[in-house]
Amino acid sequence: MLVEGFYFNGYDRIQRAAWFFAGLRWEDGEAACPRCQSKRVSFLTTRLMWKCLDCKKQFSIKVGTIFEDSPLGLDKWLCAMFLIANCKNGVSSYEIGRDLDITQKSAWFMLQRIRHAMHTGTFTKLSGQVEADETLHRRQGQEHAFRQAEG
Ligand SMILES: [Zn+2]
Repeated sequence: MLVEGFYFNGYDRIQRAAWFFAGLRWEDGEAACPRCQSKRVSFLTTRLMWKCLDCKKQFSIKVGTIFEDSPLGLDKWLCAMFLIANCKNGVSSYEIGRDLDITQKSAWFMLQRIRHAMHTGTFTKLSGQVEADETLHRRQGQEHAFRQAEG
């Protein structure tokens, strides 16, 4: 699903990132309604939610995932994910930070979580793990964080 360049903005960028997310979030890559299992759903870009066209339920893509307790907006998560997925030669936390207008430290943290999710093939949050990650992150000095990001 590689697209030409990834510096597109707004609707298109978030829409594409949402499809990418769905590819990992749901087993067959298609968003499914948690209530009626329908796959007739549409993505509401303005609300960052899907809406079931059958039972009309709206469901967030954030609940139960690694994004749920993050202070960073889901739009930033989606864009970071998209950058990572589409940059063949890897993307650094500096680039993500610059592109999303967040600190390098925040970008580094996002990178870790997203890479882990891509490695395990799921964005579903594992209980206990998130807390441990954050504790670890706080303990590590900035210098170490830089090394990790560039390594
Ligand atoms: Zn439904």
